[in-house]
Amino acid sequence: MNKKPIVAGNWKMNKTPLEGREFIKVVKESTSDIQNTKVVFFPAFTGLNDVVLNSPYYLGAQNFHWENSGAYTGEVSIEMLTECGVSYVIVGHSERRQFFKESNTEINKKLKAALVNNLKPIFCIGETIDDRREGSTESFLQNQLEKGLEGINSIDSFIIAYEPIWAIGTGETADKRQIFDAHNFIQSTLKKLFPKSHNYHILYGGSVNTENAKELIKIDGVDGFLIGGASLSKKSFVKIINDVEKIRRKA
Ligand code: PEP
Repeated sequence: MNKKPIVAGNWKMNKTPLEGREFIKVVKESTSDIQNTKVVFFPAFTGLNDVVLNSPYYLGAQNFHWENSGAYTGEVSIEMLTECGVSYVIVGHSERRQFFKESNTEINKKLKAALVNNLKPIFCIGETIDDRREGSTESFLQNQLEKGLEGINSIDSFIIAYEPIWAIGTGETADKRQIFDAHNFIQSTLKKLFPKSHNYHILYGGSVNTENAKELIKIDGVDGFLIGGASLSKKSFVKIINDVEKIRRKA
């Protein structure tokens, strides 16, 4: 199946609402020729209001609570997000696992809540440098997939992001072979777990930038990118989107 590539920009705790709106306006103007690539912006919660986007541009949230409402001070529900036009959510990002101690159980609850509410989750998985050195990358990824997706019947419309932790924000990108092997492994694991699902994407994330995006998008099994640092600069994000569009349109 020829999947439309996805280029997603995770701004993390950067950009005020005003800066975000200005950024999105410029990116849209500078990528107005794209036909094949989907672009998703992930501002902080405060930047989700007053942003109206139409295909191929989409709005995503970096986090949410799995309950619909209630006494959860500081949390944001899916209903609050969808009213802002959010259609994508990030789940299981390594920064949330590491700094906010999100467990596989909580990640599983979030994925189920996203599914019930028709939100497209970008479910992040990825090994530490120690796992890779010990040769346990595959078992680590398999465990994250099995635990995160437990009790879910279909992953159609899901997006999995392979993000080796050692490559996030470090400037150290995984090499082509490592990315190919990991995506291949994720794909075969998903085929075993969900033999009836075919309509999902597997993105790569980890120090994607204007220098390496062109080559990385050519790797078999890479359906797009989840980008942190390089999604904060208009010039870089625009170049990556346009490069992905050009290369995948030819393919
Ligand atoms: C990320 O945070 O998901 C990410 C991939 O960050 P960076 O592109 O900065 O490595």
